[in-house]
Amino acid sequence: MTPPYVSTGHLPSAARTQTLVDQAYRRFKDNDEGTNAQHYPALARMPRHTFSLCIADVSGDCFMAGDVDQTCTLMSVSKPFVFALVCQALGAEAVRAQVGLNATGLPFNSVMAIELHPQRLTNPMVNSGALAVTSLAPGDTAEAKWAFIRDGLARFAGRPLELDEEVYASAASSNFRNRAIARLLADYGRLYFDSLETTDIYTRQCCLKVTARDLAIMAATLADGGVNPITGERVVDAIHCDHTLVVMATAGMYESSGDWLFDMGVPGKSGVSGALIAAAPGKGGLGVFSPPLDAAGNSVRGQLAARFLSDQLGLNLFASKPHRSRQEPRRVAVR
Ligand code: GLN
Repeated sequence: MTPPYVSTGHLPSAARTQTLVDQAYRRFKDNDEGTNAQHYPALARMPRHTFSLCIADVSGDCFMAGDVDQTCTLMSVSKPFVFALVCQALGAEAVRAQVGLNATGLPFNSVMAIELHPQRLTNPMVNSGALAVTSLAPGDTAEAKWAFIRDGLARFAGRPLELDEEVYASAASSNFRNRAIARLLADYGRLYFDSLETTDIYTRQCCLKVTARDLAIMAATLADGGVNPITGERVVDAIHCDHTLVVMATAGMYESSGDWLFDMGVPGKSGVSGALIAAAPGKGGLGVFSPPLDAAGNSVRGQLAARFLSDQLGLNLFASKPHRSRQEPRRVAVR
């Protein structure tokens, strides 16, 4: 028997949602805290004042503000979507057994996280686990695995996504740490394809170009039980969206995931490009792009806007009634 009750709801009216998105933009656009990612030279060069945000509801309506045509790379925001696609292909239990699920509490590119775990398992939201997930993508060749991931991410976005050649070239020539992580996992039997090819596919998935609207639609697809609200296509089964939202809630913001969930009450994921998503099941998705990051690698303006909108739009999954005290903007720990 299908259980009848789920925790959902709906967003405020379209006019009210747009007003709140505009307010979030005005409130935080002049915030000048944080530092661009230094991981890859192309990310360090991004204009730090760029700021765009979008809410997409589960019927596909989009509410946007800021530099809405500006593109950014997905970076770690690719991780939950590739996890969902691989769970769909292999089954969630197979992925859990081979990758792990629990938060590491350590930075996203930690080697120590692997070393500290007796079975060398981490989780799909940090680089080690994400590399393992990518290595599990269906296909016997790197080309086949890349096609599976690229096409799946395009179905989440509802349109083909292009590779940012400049960021890819920059990342591919400087991602020694990810290659080392992949090699270490392979040594422990925790990588399931060639380590260099896996790192290259992972780098490609990180370097796909999206706008804040694409990010919001991808998040809204997770919020909509796996159906893209624009195309109407089912990308993954609802159960894999549930699983993905759980791992995002557990580890989407790396070592500051507890702070994020405490403040926001919804699953989120950030990337070092300054991309950030949040997904409110049954309601919609938020996409933000703003390059300056806090100490954990999460967009500063992205977190502030997400916090404001979670409070104002009623996204918190744990709230049984509105709390005015939650509306104080929290400061984020910057570098
Ligand atoms: N491509 C980046 C890396 O692997 C993604 C990390 C991130 O966005 N946190 O280092």
